Order: sequence, then structure tokens, then C-alpha cells
Amino acid sequence: MKALTLNADFAPKPDYKLSDRERDTHRIHSGSQVWKNPRISIGQKDDPTPKDDEVIIEVGAVGICGSDMHMYEASADGYMLYPGLTRFPNTLGHEFSGRVAEVGKNVRDLKVGDLVTAEEIQWCGECVSCRRGYVNHCDNLEELGFTTPGAMAQYIPVRARYCWNIREIADRVGDEHEALVMGAMVEPTGVSYHAMFNRIHTWQPGVYVVVFGAGPIGLAAEALALAAGASQVIVFDTSPARRATAEKLGATKVLDPVGIDINEAILELTYGRGVDFVVEAAGAPSHTLAPLTSGLAVNATVCHIGRSEKPTPLALEYYQVKGVQLAGSLGHAGHGTFQNVIRMMASGKLDMRPMVSARMNLDNALDAFKRLESRQDAKIILLPN
Ligand SMILES: [Zn+2]
Ligand SMILES: [Zn+2]
Repeated sequence: MKALTLNADFAPKPDYKLSDRERDTHRIHSGSQVWKNPRISIGQKDDPTPKDDEVIIEVGAVGICGSDMHMYEASADGYMLYPGLTRFPNTLGHEFSGRVAEVGKNVRDLKVGDLVTAEEIQWCGECVSCRRGYVNHCDNLEELGFTTPGAMAQYIPVRARYCWNIREIADRVGDEHEALVMGAMVEPTGVSYHAMFNRIHTWQPGVYVVVFGAGPIGLAAEALALAAGASQVIVFDTSPARRATAEKLGATKVLDPVGIDINEAILELTYGRGVDFVVEAAGAPSHTLAPLTSGLAVNATVCHIGRSEKPTPLALEYYQVKGVQLAGSLGHAGHGTFQNVIRMMASGKLDMRPMVSARMNLDNALDAFKRLESRQDAKIILLPN
């Protein structure tokens, strides 16, 4: 089968302390400290066969994520930008959907022909974090498309327990191809859902929301906030193209944060009360959360989803005086997230397709990665079959 593979040189930086396990398995916690000269190519790979608890999915649609871009891109010294868990060479792709082509002999709930998407978080179910219910923080985490084979291929093996049936989306839109494209966006949308509704429990219909960053995660947060009854969703992004997409999805107001006082802008739009619910999805907290002070409402909630390695100074005095809470969030597994996102898509309350700017064959994936370097597109979907 055809597959897109990322390879990189194993070259730990001199000050990075490799654990014994990292040295033995090359499953690296901090990719940007170890992998050099990342490069992608499209070639042939053996067709997968299912283990007893796995299904083989014929991939219908797979999105290119910001994380894929950060694995593909390097800084000036040649090291990969992506700071997280990784193992190479590996097939990329973790936002996908497809049709079950084969089932392992212990699989009970899926059958050949089912339309499914899958969690990227490959939780073990046995460690202390999993047993406490925090599967996104699994102690033995593997990540589909990061440490295990991903979906930028014609077929992918996935344990059945990470799969979710998307038949109800197909029933709603009446078109399996469109359902597969929508299904490929359940994973990134789930990242925002998990942050907004599982990590914190302060959501109230009617709130004023600010979303920093109109990439796919920020756009999903915007769409979820609107669907969940926010009165205003104000989106900040520096890119005109991304602001236009945010507008298309229904943002109350889109603003370029450069050169304006974000607190003043927020206070003006919120009748002086400030914002109740903040989503950081820009990965630039020193430019978004650090300056956010008087624009915060009493009892505001801030959720941090964007990845950023650098420490960020926060005006904690405001957090204290206004009773603001801050939650970090990672992942999308557990808590019914996939189920609820699928249901919202199926009900017509949530449609992330306006952010898809191109659909391309897997053969053209290298062009797609190149095109995304300029960060003008929100989402490109690859069609491997
Ligand atoms: Zn992703
Ligand atoms: Zn675990």
C-alpha cells in the first residue's frame, strides 16, 4: 500500500538526558530535543494485518494537523519543531476516518464496512492515570501517527477500542464521502471539546467567549462555543485568511491582536464586563494570556490548549482578585468526547467543513505540506483511496 513516511536522524542534543527506555526504543518524550533533519516521502509499505483486538481501516479522509507540520518543520539548527512524544520512521496522520476493511478475531463491536474514526490517544487502560479516568495522561501513552503508524496511508491498523462509529453522521448528510471528511475532523474538534467541557465545568449558555488562534483547534472551539450557546465569540488571529475562516464559521467579531490593546477591545465588546471563557489555541500564551488582565470577567475561566514550550508570565493578581480559573488540557479521549462530537456533527449543530480549504490525493501530500508552510489554510484533507 501507499503511505507517507516521516524519517529523521536520531541525534539527541548534548544536554538532553535520554532515559534507558528512550535509548532502547527510540520512543522519545521530547521530539525537538532528539530528532534532526526531518523529511517526508511517499512510498510503498506492507499492507497491515489485524491483531486479535484490531481492525484494519481503509482510510477515507485524513487531515494534516499543526503537529504534523511541526514534525515536518525544523528550526535553524535542523532539529524538529515538534516538542512531544514521537518515534521515527513513522507514517504520519492522526485525524482520520475510514471504512473497516478487516476485523481481528476478538473484535466484538465493529464489522467490515462500518464507517469509523479513531482516537489518537492510545491509552493503555491499566496504568494508575488510566485507572483514575485520566486516559489522556496515560503513563504508557502511545500516539497514533506519532509513535504508532498513522493514517496517511491506504490502510491503518487500530485497536477496536479506540474506534468510534460515525454512521449517524453519514445518515445525516446522506453522503458517505462527506461523512468521512467530517469524521476526519472529530479528533481535532474533540481536543477543544475536552478542554472546554471536561477539563473545566464552568460552561454556561450565554457566556462571552474569547478564542485566541483561528487554526483548526481554535476554530473548533469557536464552533463548539456557538453551538453550546455562547452569546458572543470573539476570535483573535494575526492571519487575515484565518480570520476570514473564523468569520465564515460565525464568530461575533474577529480581530487582529497586533497593534491593539486586547483588554480594551474585549471590554468594549463585552459592555465593560470582560470575557467569561477564554480558549488559548494560538500556542502563543506570552502574547495572548500574558497581557490578558482587565479583560477578564469575575469568575472567568481560561483553558490552555495551544502548545508552547516556553514559560509564560501571568498576571496572577487578576486571577486572584477576579476569581479566575485556569486549566491546561491535552487530548480528546475518554469522557464521551468522541461520542458527543459525533452526535453534534450528526445533529447539524456542528460542521467543521468550512475550514477545509483543499482536498487532495495522498500522491499530492508533499505539495500539501509545502502549501501549509505559509499557514494560510486552516485544514487540508488528504484522500488516500
Ligand atoms: Zn492533531
Ligand atoms: Zn494508561
